[in-house]
Parts: sequence; structure tokens; C-alpha cells
Amino acid sequence: MEVIKGIPVAPGVVIGRTFVLDDVVDHVPYHTVAAADRDTERQRLESAIDDVLKDLIHDRDRAAEKLGPEPAKIFEFHLGLLQDSTLIDPVRNRVSDDGVSAAYAVSEGFQSLASQFRNMDSEVFRQKASDVMDLDRRLLGKLVGQSEDRLAKLDEPVLLVAHELTPAQVASLEPSMVLALAMDTGGRTSHNSIVAAALGIPVVVGCKDISSRVNDNELIVIDGKAGIVVIRPDDQTLENYQRSAERMAGITASLQEIAELDSVTKDGVHIELLGNIEFPHEIESVLQNGGEGVGLYRTEFLYLTSPTEPTEEDLYQAYKQSIELLQGRPLIIRTLDLGADKYTQERAAEPERNPFLGLRSIRFCLQNLPIFTRQLKAILRASVHGPVKLMFPLISTALELRQAKMVLQDVMEECQEQGIDFDAEIPIGIMIEVPSAALMASVFAREVSFFSIGTNDLIQYTLAVDRGNERVANLYTGANPAVIQLVKAVIRTGKRFDVKTSLCGEIAGETLYTMLLIGLGLRTLSLVATQIPYVKRVIRSVDIAQCERLARKVGSFDSERKILNTLRQELKSVLPEMDGGWTTD
Ligand code: PEP
Ligand code: MG
Repeated sequence: MEVIKGIPVAPGVVIGRTFVLDDVVDHVPYHTVAAADRDTERQRLESAIDDVLKDLIHDRDRAAEKLGPEPAKIFEFHLGLLQDSTLIDPVRNRVSDDGVSAAYAVSEGFQSLASQFRNMDSEVFRQKASDVMDLDRRLLGKLVGQSEDRLAKLDEPVLLVAHELTPAQVASLEPSMVLALAMDTGGRTSHNSIVAAALGIPVVVGCKDISSRVNDNELIVIDGKAGIVVIRPDDQTLENYQRSAERMAGITASLQEIAELDSVTKDGVHIELLGNIEFPHEIESVLQNGGEGVGLYRTEFLYLTSPTEPTEEDLYQAYKQSIELLQGRPLIIRTLDLGADKYTQERAAEPERNPFLGLRSIRFCLQNLPIFTRQLKAILRASVHGPVKLMFPLISTALELRQAKMVLQDVMEECQEQGIDFDAEIPIGIMIEVPSAALMASVFAREVSFFSIGTNDLIQYTLAVDRGNERVANLYTGANPAVIQLVKAVIRTGKRFDVKTSLCGEIAGETLYTMLLIGLGLRTLSLVATQIPYVKRVIRSVDIAQCERLARKVGSFDSERKILNTLRQELKSVLPEMDGGWTTD
């Protein structure tokens, strides 16, 4: 038995068999296949080789047609290598004789050949190393594709283990077949984790090298609340987890009843609970779980999952569908938050050195006006179908906000000229997720009609801790006194200027923070759909005076530990069975 401690992302316990996804081409973990599966693995390797040979012949012929016979010769070297049995047979034998995965055998064989070329005296041969690495990438690309195909065609549910999935890969998972997910990398609020949490399955990230510690079809337990993965559990551990899975299934069933009840405190104050979504279809889950609308629509995910850039019509249809599904309930559409760990880096000719501090979000939009205006026009066109608000992300200066509003104004004028109907009074708001915006909230308050506090980024930028980096995940916490001070200041400014203020970072879905957030004055939270009933249960068990007392007490502490302990004790005293509440801290 082996216990791996990772970072909890979405709660729940699942026991089952693994599926290890070959999901990366630059870091292939070592893993083996069972003796009975070696032939199938060998066939995978053969078909990857065949596919790459076909691609190379196609590329060679195209190059010959366009550029002439000389440049086309480059591909002859590739073709020769791939058909050279002295190179390929050892790779084949690693799979057939030693049972290592096809991806690992390819990576090992080609890396070693590349380093032999690199160590040669002749420059001509040294340059061949990059051709070998190109072949390596081509083969691994095929194997990863096959691995995804196998996953899509499974006939039994699995627990998925991967090194790192992109948000788009996570979004394509089918929760009835993937019952839980564990990844080597990632942080609590990295975007692949956020999409994974929305699937409603237990998720643990930051498990270091778990993808090389397990093989396909091994028994494991994924405990998403504790952030633990147990590999090959012993009988006693298995029995304990079986009991805990049953207990949790009972709690989940009882929470369905809560979803129908009002979100009010014991003293009758309504706390509005809205859902965070990445795709329109998630609205069904928001409503089922008792959400009163959508407080954050992360529209960039449409870009991440489509092979080509969505058109204005695609965007309009997605927004219209969301509005229709909500049937008159509110919808906040956030404009594109592309960049950093989403989309732009994968496609950039020259990736940024520091993308979280780079051309991200509103900055990217202001430098790529056609993409931005296309989206704004689609939002405006949709705004006639229901109560829509428009929100700009990552605003860090007043000038940036003014520029964004000017672009919106231009698009409105264009709509008018073209006779397109839209809501000319559409409320405009901003995310407060950069410390500069939190500190200058009173300036922004004069220019917008609402604020939404984005703690996922606010924590990262206040504490200088990358939200997606598992190595510094211990420093990433919403319970940091500086973060709480900033949140408090924004809420106070919002009240002073009568600017509606809500919070949509992941802590809105962590029950440990619910009382504190209410005590700080928030009356609207936007969170992942599956957590709405849990948060509502806390809301229905507390009164405002009690929450305000807690907020005052926490405000006087200077350490995260003290704050977390106090939040835990307080929640336990209100709801003993919540056992410290759901938190990733
Ligand atoms: C946030 O930063 O808190 C937020 C809600 O936005 P995102 O997670 O999409 O960056
Ligand atoms: Mg953000």
C-alpha cells in the first residue's frame, strides 16, 4: 500500500481501478502494462509507427510539390530512421519483453538516440538530434491521441490518473466513466482544477509523480476531501474507505433536499447563491443544486475546447442558450480571460516567460481588438433575451477600465448603425482580483455598477504565489490576513458607493469560509454548482450577528493558522457533522 498526499480540489471518496492517460509528450512517466495487455500495447506502438510513416510520406510529397525535391529529402532521413529495425526493435522489445508502456519505450529509445547524436564529433550528425526528437514527438502525439481514444471508448468506469491535463482535456471527460481524477501537477485553483471540480467528481492534484507510480487497472482510492490517493490499499484501509464512501453518499442524498430550500440565515437574511460556469450546459447543474442564477460565466472556455476560433454567431448562440436556460434568472457574462494557463501560450509562436504577469485577460483583449469586439457584439446581441450583466476581468488600472468601456461604446454605436437591438443600459462590472484594483476600489466604484471579488487571482497576486504550482501550494491560502484585509476593504467600499459586491473565487464554495464571508458583509456568493447545497446548509444554520462576531475576531489575527483554526472551531460548533467543513487549506 502507498499513500500519496496531494492537494484537495473536489470532495468525495471513490474506490476503483485506474486508467493512466499518456497525456504529455515532454515528460513521459515510467509505467508498465499487465502481462495480459502487452500484445495490445505492442499493437498500439505498431499503429503509432504506421500512422507517423503515413504522415511523413504525406509531408514529404507536399514538400516536394511546393518546394522541390531537395527540401523534401529532409523527410527521407525521418522515414529511414523509423524503418530502421536496429533502432525500432529495442523499443518494440521493451514493450513485449519488459511490459513498459509504448509511450515510455518510445521516449526512452529516442532520447537515448538523440543524446548519441548530440555527442558526435560532426556538426552534421549533431544536428540530427533534433530530427530524432521530432520523430519522438510525432510518435508520442499519436500514442497520446490513442490513449484519449481508448479513454473515450471505455466500457467500464475508471479512476483517471494523469501527469497534467489541459482545461480542454478535462472538459471533455465524461463523469459517468471517469469517477475521480488524480494528477501529478496543478494547484487548487489552476484552471484545469476548476473545470475538474465542475464535473462533480472527486479530484486531487499536485500528487507529484503518481502517474509513474501506478499502472493501468490497479486498485486505488481517491479521497478528494483529504487530498489523498491510496495505491493498492490493504484490507483494513479499503474497509474504512468503503464506509466513508457510503456515509458521504448518504450526506449527498440529504443535501438534495436542501437544494430546494431558501438560502436564508436563521435570522432571515437572504444570501444569494449563484453558480460559476464554463459552459452553458452547466446551468442545469446550477439550478438542480439550488443556484439562483449565474454569477460568473467564464466565456474563454468556448475558445479552449473548439479547434477553430468561435465566430460571433457561435458566441451569440452560447450566450442566448445560457439566458434561455436561466429563464429570467440573472447572468453575469465575463469577457474573455484568455492567457496565462489558458489558450494563448499553447498557440503562441513565442510563449511568454511569465504568462500570469503577462498579456492575459483584459490586457490580451485590448491588444487583440477583433477578438474582443466580436465577443462584445455577441454579448450585446444576447442582452435583449434576458437579464445580462457584463464583467471585465483582471482590471488593474483605471485607464484599462476606461479603454475597455470605450471599446464597448464603439461596439454599441456599431450595433445602433446596423439596427441591432441590445440593452443600452446593460450593467457593467469588474472583477476585483488584482491588489491594485482592491486598493483603488473607490476609484472604480465611480465607474462601474458592480464588483465581483476574484480571490483565486487575488490570493496569487497578493501573496506572490502561483495558483497552479503545486510546489508552493502550501503558501496559497485565502486565510491569509492580507487577503482578508483586501476583501474586507473592497466590501466596505462597495457599500459606501452603493456598488453591489459579490465574491466568485473558489473560497465561495468552501464551507469553512462561509461564515467569515457573510460576517464581512457579503450577501452574494458565486460558486461551483456542486457546493451550493453545502454552503446553503451553513447559511441556514447561522445568524448574521454570529458571523459578524467571527469576522471581527478573525480580523484581529495575524496568522493563517490561527484564522483557519478559528474558522474550523466555529463551523464545528454550528454544524458538528461538517467535521471542519470543506476546505483546501
Ligand atoms: C478568480 O480569479 O477568483 C476568478 C474567479 O477568476 P478565474 O478563476 O477564472 O481566474
Ligand atoms: Mg481570475
